[in-house]
Amino acid sequence: MSERPHVSIQDLSVHYPLGRSLFTKALTVHAIDHVSLDIPRGSFFGLVGESGSGKTTLGRAILKAAPITDGHIAYVDGEVDYDVAGLSKTDLKDYRRRAQLIFQDPYAALSPRMTVRDIIAEPLEVMGLTTSRGETDERVREIAAKCRLNLEHLRRFPHAFSGGQRQRISIARALVCEPKFLVADESVAALDVSIQADILNLLKSLQRDLDITFLFISHDLSVVAHTCDHVAVMYLGSIVESAPTRELFRNPTHPYTKALLSAIPSLDPDDRGGRQRLEGEIPSPANIPPGCRFHTRCPVAEERCRSEEPAWREGSEEHFTACHLAWPD
Ligand code: SF4
Repeated sequence: MSERPHVSIQDLSVHYPLGRSLFTKALTVHAIDHVSLDIPRGSFFGLVGESGSGKTTLGRAILKAAPITDGHIAYVDGEVDYDVAGLSKTDLKDYRRRAQLIFQDPYAALSPRMTVRDIIAEPLEVMGLTTSRGETDERVREIAAKCRLNLEHLRRFPHAFSGGQRQRISIARALVCEPKFLVADESVAALDVSIQADILNLLKSLQRDLDITFLFISHDLSVVAHTCDHVAVMYLGSIVESAPTRELFRNPTHPYTKALLSAIPSLDPDDRGGRQRLEGEIPSPANIPPGCRFHTRCPVAEERCRSEEPAWREGSEEHFTACHLAWPD
């Protein structure tokens, strides 16, 4: 029997009602609409899309930090089998330890009034996972060393550090409670390119050493290409394509994925680029277009795309796409 996914999302929707005024009718923001996704244990799973595609909301829903309107999220870890939407207070406390978030902005995420030691130690103390200061200090030193932080720096304050070092502190804080699932939301987007590679290498080595599953959220497919085993592409609250990374880059089938890939700069001076520019803006999630939700920007849309929602179909092993034209009928 094959192993169950670490996280399995079934038909998940996250909707936010908007208030109405005298002149407008009540609206609902469809941040996530009927998303199903399996994240295998030990994978480095990429989730990409433009700003406003819903990828951050999906990451937060998995962490139970966004309200789940409909659907299920199953989290399986050893003996633990949680229905995330229905967690009891006791199980939620345990879940918070097991599933953590690495913040996007290493400048805003760290309290300027706390030492690095206290920043890393705080989750341990809040969750009551250690019984003495000595035990906490030992755990902080251990995880700081794993994140390649200089132990002498534990007494300093965050302002003394560069962006890359601050992100190492954020990562150490996320890891100190020994989670097995991490959401890294645009965790290298605020860093210089050379530092990005450094942090990505650190995340990959931590994944191997500590047996962690990553959901790596990014708007940048070139970052995902070198890091992730599998990639899912989101557009307007929905997954439009999902495949192993190599397969997705070699054989993209959704017009949106093709457009994102064509925007990656080439190092080849002879490559004049066949960049596909997407016309228009991503529509409002409070006003989802009927049929295929990408039809208002799709360069190859047909008449049926305006009324028929495309099915989610597997064209080759583990390669799924939601597009009428992606795979032969
Ligand atoms: Fe484009 Fe139609 Fe495919 Fe949607 S279903 S991506 S509009 S071709």
